Amino acid sequence: MRMGLERMVEKAERLVRQGRVIYLGGGRYNVIGDHGTYLVNMLPDGKLTCTCQGFQTRRVCSHVAAVIILREIRGFK
Ligand SMILES: [Zn+2]
Repeated sequence: MRMGLERMVEKAERLVRQGRVIYLGGGRYNVIGDHGTYLVNMLPDGKLTCTCQGFQTRRVCSHVAAVIILREIRGFK
């Protein structure tokens, strides 16, 4: 199943709006998704990884997108 980019961003925005992205410190975030809670980790080079199944196959997911959106809102680079 392929999730369209637009749908993925919409879902990511909803996760942020509902306060389901929680910063843990050390570049790590807990994201409470619709099907489980996942760990998004920022690597030293700024790349993001996620523990969900979708990320393992697509290398992108709504959880990573949610962290990017949250960081933009808070003015992180
Ligand atoms: Zn994910």
